Amino acid sequence: MQVVHTRADWHEYWLRSIKSNKSIGLVPTMGALHEGHLDLVRKAKEESDVVVVSIFVNPTQFNNQEDFENYPNTLESDLDKLSNENVDFVFVPDTKTIYPEKPVININFGELERVLEGTFRPGHFNGVGIVVSKLFNLIRPHKAFFGQKDLQQTGIIKQLVKDLSMEVDLIIVPTRREEDGLAMSSRNMRLSTQERNQSLILINSLIKAKQELLAGKQWFEVQNQIKCDFEEKPLASLEYFELIHPERFTRYSKFDENQKSSICVAAYLGKIRLIDNLPIIP
Ligand code: AMP
Repeated sequence: MQVVHTRADWHEYWLRSIKSNKSIGLVPTMGALHEGHLDLVRKAKEESDVVVVSIFVNPTQFNNQEDFENYPNTLESDLDKLSNENVDFVFVPDTKTIYPEKPVININFGELERVLEGTFRPGHFNGVGIVVSKLFNLIRPHKAFFGQKDLQQTGIIKQLVKDLSMEVDLIIVPTRREEDGLAMSSRNMRLSTQERNQSLILINSLIKAKQELLAGKQWFEVQNQIKCDFEEKPLASLEYFELIHPERFTRYSKFDENQKSSICVAAYLGKIRLIDNLPIIP
């Protein structure tokens, strides 16, 4: 496994791969790797000849400076995990490589970002759009792998690729969960024991809401009940719990079993912000 830090480092390997007709798969990450990330890596190994995993904590996608500063950094153990998965390359750029200068452009994803994460994290998707574009331009992958855990992010990136005619196939990998159902996240390691216990309210409320909707209960009643459930957990604070179209990201006010739908949730456990989602009608 080679660790590369700059465009120049990678260029030589890129040329070699292209000359021997090898397909390149990219898994973009911010490090602090867990089994969810490794599922993406395994899928990339199945689907590409050469796998590149990038590790870069992207400052422009953090709307909260404290969250950025406290973002876990476990590079040594990340590299061990990737080496065990027989990854070919790990791209670990420094900030100057990605941002020699502050970008001037601003990517506006229109309606797609006027709900959910877009509302609660202003500027977040602009940062995601810019860094993903840069990674695609630097690495030039044939395929790129993203997790369904960040459902709205997958929508944003699909739009980016479509609108800018990028030649990258996007592959979305299902959410990997802990045994008790909590969606794996790099931020989970920052939860206290009590916060970790109460964090199950995210997946439990998604499952409960799905069951109730499918049993015929009205969405507004389900949503109100979930808000009350959150109020009973002293360490949890709900940001949103919304029923949406999983590709258009429009909010539904009523459930219709003939329409595609997912529920998305975001909540704080103490100071840690977690998100999750569950398909209702895929
Ligand atoms: P991050 O390092 O949090 O930016 O995540 C890097 C990639 O891993 C993104 O495409 C995420 O959607 C994906 N990912 C994060 N957590 C999970 C999970 N629990 N299951 C599947 N994919 C995940």
